[in-house]
Amino acid sequence: MRFLITGGAGFIGSHLAERLLERGDHVVLLDNLSTGSMENIRHLKSHDRMQYFLDSIENRQLLAELVDDAEVVVHLAAAVGVRLIVESPVRTIETNVNGTQLILEAASKKRKLVVTASTSEVYGKNMQVPFREDADLVLGPTTKGRWSYAASKALDEFLALSYWKEKKLPVIVVRLFNTVGPRQTGRYGMVLPNFVGQALDGKPITVYGSGKQSRCFCDVRDVVEALMRLMETQHAVGEVVNVGNTEEVTIRIRALRPGL
Ligand code: UDP
Repeated sequence: MRFLITGGAGFIGSHLAERLLERGDHVVLLDNLSTGSMENIRHLKSHDRMQYFLDSIENRQLLAELVDDAEVVVHLAAAVGVRLIVESPVRTIETNVNGTQLILEAASKKRKLVVTASTSEVYGKNMQVPFREDADLVLGPTTKGRWSYAASKALDEFLALSYWKEKKLPVIVVRLFNTVGPRQTGRYGMVLPNFVGQALDGKPITVYGSGKQSRCFCDVRDVVEALMRLMETQHAVGEVVNVGNTEEVTIRIRALRPGL
């Protein structure tokens, strides 16, 4: 099969590319290196079934050509990371909303399957765990910039599902929870690489707040496996699917185990 992965030089995209190439598929990566990096794909560059384009998904002509050549489009290009979102809310909203719209529009012309990445952030302040895909999304006020990320991703979901309902474009929306593993960078504020980097440098570990907040961390290799299985599942088309881990971990382990 031939895959186009937007955000292919990113953390998750590069792992997906690696697995698809191992399986014998053809992979084209499109990435503007805004948060991705050549380092992530250096080991794949010489592969004869892989091509990469360092360009923006806003290059409509290139995008149209790449979508034409692909059978499946995996849309992972997005503004991610709390730090980036707080510092550049305009970029976050524009990249996430315009980018997804361009992908869906291009794919729709040729009815190519689109797998698009959303986030567990869309559940917002909803406290009813485990989160079900049909649960209410409880977001904060628009005056608080951090909610723009969740709102932009929720809009991406609406758009993707509307393309399915109205134009019969096959789409699968995956809500990714905290994904961790090799090559994840701490540059954009993600907790695990931050903590590991601090520990390796002998620096204090920066636990924000009480540390009682919890997350479900999923290994990127499991996330990739889930994506690959979903793409082969006809029932997944037109659906939203959580991809994460069932085990909750508090950021500060002592919050769970007072004896430590
Ligand atoms: N966090 C922390 N120290 C850090 C980075 C993050 O305590 O250096 C906390 C952060 O406040 C949040 C959790 O770890 O409660 C997960 O943060 P991350 O940005 O990795 O993911 P997200 O908040 O988007 O789930």
